[in-house]
Amino acid sequence: MREFEFIEWIRRQGRFDPDVVAVGPGDDCAVLNVGGEKLLMTTDQVLDGVHFSLAEHGAEAAGRKSAARSLSDIAAMAGLPVAMVATVAAPKGFSQADAEAIYLGLRTCGDEFGCPLVGGDLAAWGESPGPLQISVTILGKAGGIEPVLRSGAQVGNTICVTGKLGGAWATRRHLEFTPRIADARILAGQFAVSAMIDISDGLVGDLHHILNASNVGAELEDLAIPIHDDAAERKDPLEAALFDGEDYELLFTLPETEADRLMDSNPLGVGIGRIGTIVAGSGMTLLREGRREKLEPRGWEHET
Ligand SMILES: [Mg+2]
Repeated sequence: MREFEFIEWIRRQGRFDPDVVAVGPGDDCAVLNVGGEKLLMTTDQVLDGVHFSLAEHGAEAAGRKSAARSLSDIAAMAGLPVAMVATVAAPKGFSQADAEAIYLGLRTCGDEFGCPLVGGDLAAWGESPGPLQISVTILGKAGGIEPVLRSGAQVGNTICVTGKLGGAWATRRHLEFTPRIADARILAGQFAVSAMIDISDGLVGDLHHILNASNVGAELEDLAIPIHDDAAERKDPLEAALFDGEDYELLFTLPETEADRLMDSNPLGVGIGRIGTIVAGSGMTLLREGRREKLEPRGWEHET
């Protein structure tokens, strides 16, 4: 099954009241008009053996990561988190101490971002050999800043990314990253950011989501891609930065003059890389050692 094709299929089924559902499936969060406020809603899950290793990382780190991933989706829309609920499917032999550790991971991460854990459900696999699974749903709000969608990138816009990319799996960074909520609020509140997404699937995969939603293409420059130290030892560190994913940095577009102003002042708590330009057409190319090569997204379809 291909995740993107499935989302497209869901979008074709949906009939929403546009007065309530401003943005439906296919962005980082849904946007709902409720009581005069724009609410954001997102859900995500982590699986033992896919997104973390219970044996290696422990239950608290798994809980923390599951909360942080959904918080990162709120950041991708420049929203403010309000509250979260969580469900846990516990493997056979799971102890009260393990369940408490997950709770603490969830709650500690939520508290850091003003997002209390207000409910949930714990089920056990019993005799079936199911893995630990944690699902987190977060309700957020626009809080005075118009939610930034994936669909607003314009030809001529500059493409920027926060932080450094690649090799997150080599360390605990994929567990302990900071959801960029404060930085996203500054970006969307003070600059004319036209599109934004958080990097979970990898720079190329997630940029592809912006390009598809905005009906545009992109040109990236090799030397401009910020490569994380975690990827320095790899055979091809640039390849790691382009495709690894799990960085949970912000990838965004804005007019060139706004990018100049952003780079001059950088009011964020993290570095910013200016990595390329939005162009007419579709797909993306990388200017690599002076040669232009096509970049195809991969790894983002979650083939099963
Ligand atoms: Mg996302």
